[in-house]
Order: sequence, then structure tokens, then C-alpha cells
Amino acid sequence: MTDTIDTKTLLDWISRYREAVTEKREWLTELDSAIGDADHGANMTRGMNAVVEKLDAGAPATVDELLKTVGMTLVSSVGGASGPLYGTLFLRMGMAAGPVTELDAAALAASLRAGLDGIVARGKAEAGDKTMFDAMAPAVDALDAAIAGGASLADGVRAAADAAAAGRDATLPLVARKGRASYLGERSTGHLDPGAASTAILFETLAAAIAS
Ligand code: ADP
Ligand code: MG
Repeated sequence: MTDTIDTKTLLDWISRYREAVTEKREWLTELDSAIGDADHGANMTRGMNAVVEKLDAGAPATVDELLKTVGMTLVSSVGGASGPLYGTLFLRMGMAAGPVTELDAAALAASLRAGLDGIVARGKAEAGDKTMFDAMAPAVDALDAAIAGGASLADGVRAAADAAAAGRDATLPLVARKGRASYLGERSTGHLDPGAASTAILFETLAAAIAS
């Protein structure tokens, strides 16, 4: 374990994320069947399978190119709202990271912050709208706070993963104001947001890759 994340660990993160969304595919689909159109599990597995296939064919050597490849592949392989949104996350992360071979905790946090800002620019979600933002924003905030407090990279991403899971759980009572679930109005309450659930998995796998 080091205090930077290199391209090998980023690839491990991506691979773990593909495995985790595949394992939780039915659950993500169930969540989306309650307040959407029951395709979130399929969207995430299709997208991450395409990403891993692309990276297996030749992984870029720098962080920016690697993350841009992930983002472009998600945008082009996922039809739902989540494809362009997760795609934007990785594209903006790559742009912020630059042509380096590893990121320290502060650079990872800045990259994730840029990705989150990209999701907001694209989808206009605000806190409490019951979207992936409600898991991702607390996670990025927790990473920033941990770094400001002198935490290691591993402890910072652990805190981020815990905050993402809490943010996911906090979507349960919310009424959706963005995306397909917003068509249900008040009837969207009492269900977890599928995108917040897949975002919590994204941070959990990041923590696992960095801890390994
Ligand atoms: P679709 O809604 O097109 O079927 P998915 O089911 O794959 O796409 O993804 C749905 C998830 O996308 C939602 O649970 C929510 O978290 C996220 N989402 C939808 N619209 C927005 C938005 N405008 N901003 C942020 N996240 C959004
Ligand atoms: Mg859907």
C-alpha cells in the first residue's frame, strides 16, 4: 500500500467495479424497476464489460488517457442516463488528472471533484434530488475533509466509501426531482435511488483497490 494511486491500481479499481456491478446486477435492476425502467443493472454491466474489453485490448500508460478511455466507452456503450453521466465523471477526472502515471490523495480528490462538477454541469442535479449526486457529493466531500485532516490516501477513500453508502441510504425517503424517477413524483419515496447505489459501489471498489 502506497500513498499514491497508479495506473495499475486504477485498472484494478475498474476491474473490481465491473465485477461488483455484475454481482449486484439484479439488485440494481430491482431498485430501478421500483422507480425507473428496470435497466440500471443491465446498463452498468454492459458499460463496464465494454470498458474492460477495451482496456484489455491495450491499456493507456497515463492516468488521463486511461480515464478518458473509460469515459468515452461508457458514453458510447450505455444508452440510459447513467452512461453519459458516469462517462462525464471519468472524462472530467481524466482531464483534471493530466498526463501522469500516478495520483496522490490531493490529486485524486481534485480529479473526483472535477468529475462530480461535470455530472452537475450535465445533469443539473442538486443535493436531495435523489440521484447519484446524493452518494457522490458526500463521498468527495469526505475525501477532501480527510485529506485536510492529514489522513492517508487509504483512510481518505475509506471515509469516502462510507459517506457514499450513507448518502445512498439517505435517498430512501427522498422524492425524485431529476431523471426518470421524477415522473413518479411522491410515489418515488421509500426506495433507494439506483444511481446512488451504483455510486456507492464505485467508491467501495475504489477503497478496496487502494487497500489491496
Ligand atoms: P435511465 O434513467 O435512462 O433508465 P439508468 O437507469 O441507467 O438510466 O440510471 C438511472 C440513474 O441515473 C438514476 O437512479 C439517477 O441516479 C441517475 N440520474 C438520472 N438523471 C440524473 C441527473 N439529471 N443527474 C444525476 N443523476 C441522474
Ligand atoms: Mg433506468
